[in-house]
Amino acid sequence: MMRMTVLASGSKGNSTVVATSRTRILVDAGLSCREILKRMHIAGEDPRSLDAILITHEHQDHVQGVALLARKLGIPVYFTEMTHRAWLRWMRPRKRMTYADWLRRRQQGAVEGKPNLPLADRAAESDAGLCEDPTDEERDPAELPSVAYFEAGKRFAVGDIDVEPFTIPHDAADPVGFVFEGDGVRIGFATDLGYMPANARQALRRCDVLLLESNHDTEMLRDGPYPWSVKQRVMSRVGHLSNEAAGEFLERNYDGQATYVILAHLSESNNLPALARVAAERALCDRMSLLANKILLAEQGQPLETIAL
Ligand SMILES: [Zn+2]
Ligand SMILES: [Zn+2]
Repeated sequence: MMRMTVLASGSKGNSTVVATSRTRILVDAGLSCREILKRMHIAGEDPRSLDAILITHEHQDHVQGVALLARKLGIPVYFTEMTHRAWLRWMRPRKRMTYADWLRRRQQGAVEGKPNLPLADRAAESDAGLCEDPTDEERDPAELPSVAYFEAGKRFAVGDIDVEPFTIPHDAADPVGFVFEGDGVRIGFATDLGYMPANARQALRRCDVLLLESNHDTEMLRDGPYPWSVKQRVMSRVGHLSNEAAGEFLERNYDGQATYVILAHLSESNNLPALARVAAERALCDRMSLLANKILLAEQGQPLETIAL
């Protein structure tokens, strides 16, 4: 059986737990460390049982809490190499250390940062306490317990979960979607993409759960509050998938095999949950039933109900 809980979805932060009975993965960590732990607690997931964090791309709404969370839990973070580099550039903006600084840090023994707490000590910390970072300001904000690289198009495994990353068209260094497979269940992730390319359509076949971006209503975006340059970016081929584009994919390309279709990354300024739902329902109309194509809407403000298949 696989379990999946969308902790948050939208331009203010994205994070989802995907798990089998043996392995637990966090996909993106786009909320603060504290908020991720709080939401995991609400969803009945134990943060200390997480095995790894996987990152789709380096935009802040996907990485905000990753460094602190990974350090506190002592778990590896999986990126593509280009995404990791882009994230490092974002975390260390134009920071140059002078020789005097380096010498001072060396004398203070702060260069390597503080060691992680042993497991038993970590377990004794409260969930809230986990996110306090009492360390000095000298600590490298991009320090991680360990980094693992993957490549789009090459399968890899985390515990007993198979991961298939695929390239998506988005204005980031090397953005990916994922398909997870464990215990015979297949879960597809596709958010933050300007359109649905052939490789993504191919990867998303035979999914039991499909998490699909339904970012904006094109008319609301056009008439909405964003500056024209931002509107253009969102609508571009490397922006975000509209309700209409998600609907078109569901109608024309999607094989209809999922039990759940989760609409995700809804814009709070340029979309309404009802509009996203109607577009998907229209596309799926004759394929929806109690057993197939149940539509759920992922939210920004609170975790979605846990799905178990
Ligand atoms: Zn995003
Ligand atoms: Zn993005």
